[in-house]
Amino acid sequence: MEVKQKVELLREKYQASSERLNPPSPLKPVWTLENSEELYRIQGWGDPYFSINAAGHITVSPKGDRGGSLDLLELVEALKQRNLSLPILIRFSDILEDRLERLNACFAKAIARYRYSGEYRGVFPVKCNQQRHLVEALVRFGKPHRFGLEAGSKPELMIALATLDTPGALLICNGYKDQEYIETAMLSQRLGQTPIIVLEQLEEVDLVIAASQRLNIKPILGVRAKLSARGMGRWGGSAGDRAKFGLTVLEILTTVERLKAANMLDCLQLLHFHIGSQISAISTLKDALREAAQIYVELAKLGAKMGYLDVGGGLGVDYDGSKTNFHASKNYSIQNYANDVVAEIKEACDASSVALPTLVSESGRAIASHQSVLVFDVLSTSNVPSGPPEPASEADHLIVRNLYETYTAINPRNYQEAYHDAVQFKEEATSLFSFGYLGLRERAKAERLFWACCERILAIVRHEDYVPDDLEDLEKIMASIYYVNLSVFQSAPDSWAIGQLFPILPIHRLNEEPTCRGTLADLTCDSDGKIEQFIDLRDVKSVLELHPLRPNEPYYLGMFLNGAYQEIMGNLHNLFGDTNAVHIHLTPKGYQVEHVVKGDTMNEVLGYVQYDAEDLIEQLRRRSERALQDQKITLQESQMLLQNYERSLSRYTYLA
Ligand SMILES: *Cc1c(COP(=O)(O)O)cnc(C)c1O
Repeated sequence: MEVKQKVELLREKYQASSERLNPPSPLKPVWTLENSEELYRIQGWGDPYFSINAAGHITVSPKGDRGGSLDLLELVEALKQRNLSLPILIRFSDILEDRLERLNACFAKAIARYRYSGEYRGVFPVKCNQQRHLVEALVRFGKPHRFGLEAGSKPELMIALATLDTPGALLICNGYKDQEYIETAMLSQRLGQTPIIVLEQLEEVDLVIAASQRLNIKPILGVRAKLSARGMGRWGGSAGDRAKFGLTVLEILTTVERLKAANMLDCLQLLHFHIGSQISAISTLKDALREAAQIYVELAKLGAKMGYLDVGGGLGVDYDGSKTNFHASKNYSIQNYANDVVAEIKEACDASSVALPTLVSESGRAIASHQSVLVFDVLSTSNVPSGPPEPASEADHLIVRNLYETYTAINPRNYQEAYHDAVQFKEEATSLFSFGYLGLRERAKAERLFWACCERILAIVRHEDYVPDDLEDLEKIMASIYYVNLSVFQSAPDSWAIGQLFPILPIHRLNEEPTCRGTLADLTCDSDGKIEQFIDLRDVKSVLELHPLRPNEPYYLGMFLNGAYQEIMGNLHNLFGDTNAVHIHLTPKGYQVEHVVKGDTMNEVLGYVQYDAEDLIEQLRRRSERALQDQKITLQESQMLLQNYERSLSRYTYLA
């Protein structure tokens, strides 16, 4: 058969199959808000704080079920009018309060349910988010519950000592300690604080005994037990025999003996353990509780004046909303957690007739994650070519004709084979090009056809229940890249460092079908500066459903649940600094911007690496003087350069 005839036939075949693939259906269902809700799983991870309104925008209900909400897009636009550029971190203090209330309410309920004759007095681990406005707000919100703080280092102790002013609230002193740390903590007792010094190393026992004798202060002491029960997943290393922290059973006994010898055994009142952050499976917690409760009972029997059991942190956050024991989720509620803590401890203590302890927990992630949202804009996208390609003609190289033939023949029965053919032809085209047998235009045609094949195959694959292994990456290969105005290293370091998942989605246009699939690339010149894993009901997905950009219209994405750990661990890679941050408080009339924390300017980030703005300007000025003399630049140009330079230095490090 003549090639031309064949191509004609193929073209006819293509038209027929194209209609089969995309039947002209007048009944194509319109995209609804429910479709967006289901796609981005907002209720799963966001309830009761985030949802979609009739305009297709994300709404925030900072007080949870207690009423009042605001439109996130309108808020962002109002903030922009206040001269705050994106990316911007929005903290909702009401969410913080609601989280704290919830945690306390769950413990109160569990205590009532199990008739627990002790109380709950939680603390917030400062390391989770040390920002002043946040810690101060937490202390204020925690007053009715005598909620305290936990410090894990000397600088955090400085924050806690000065900020905590709630009578009766605990100040848990964890982390590695030197003489100064211990003395400072002990002396704060004289100010009315209730510091509990938790011994994590045997060396600290001697330091504490010496300081107590020197200052003539009887401290409240705790021991951190190295449990053999451990959390699973990324943070599981916080417990177990090889853990970095805590005392083994043998070391706890040695501690008891040394304190007894110093006549200080009555100071030992608290047992602490921490099996790692983001506990996904409740069964792990139960194992740890049982083991810890037995140690507690034994310590009481040995004569320590035990009164507190501190279950550490680890209360998880359901980042993907799947309610499973997947690492980005958790298979229990806060109420389940509180119930288990209360019930397990009560059972063990009752069985040994030991008085019930005051229960302490150090939940950071569960309190601080929900309160902040990072909103950022998309700068541009890069897409693989799409749509039907130009047909191959007789004049085209055989390889191009082969590819076109492959393209036209794709159907739901042969798509896997067609994919392998397309890949092979594309590779052949590249080799032919390298050996000079194929021109640039022909190669471009071949590539265009290859993408067309992939597009058609992907359209079929998306409707299949089972995706063959070799086609799994197709979605990713075909995805657009969305260039976003943010640094992953600054704003979502855990996404880069440990592959943590955060819900990411557009904050508007949710009444419109997101017809594109994309991954995100950040502003840094680092190939790791990207996000290619997104939450999904099953496991993770490698591309995110997004909308095509519209000319002259911003497209805003939100990254949610990132209020814990990300801010302080963020770094200055490529000198992208802290983002702008605002604190929003809901009022009866709307909302109020409580605090504005301006992000770093270029001046500031350059200062961290010892550049002085004045010196830099002076160097540039001298250089432009020389160029002027050599008549390489006009006076006007040099003025423009210097003005731009100087203005930039006082500006935000992100793109305007
Ligand atoms: C990090 C840490 C916490 C906080 O853990 P979350 O998982 O954020 O609740 C609590 N206690 C100790 C000792 C920690 O190191």
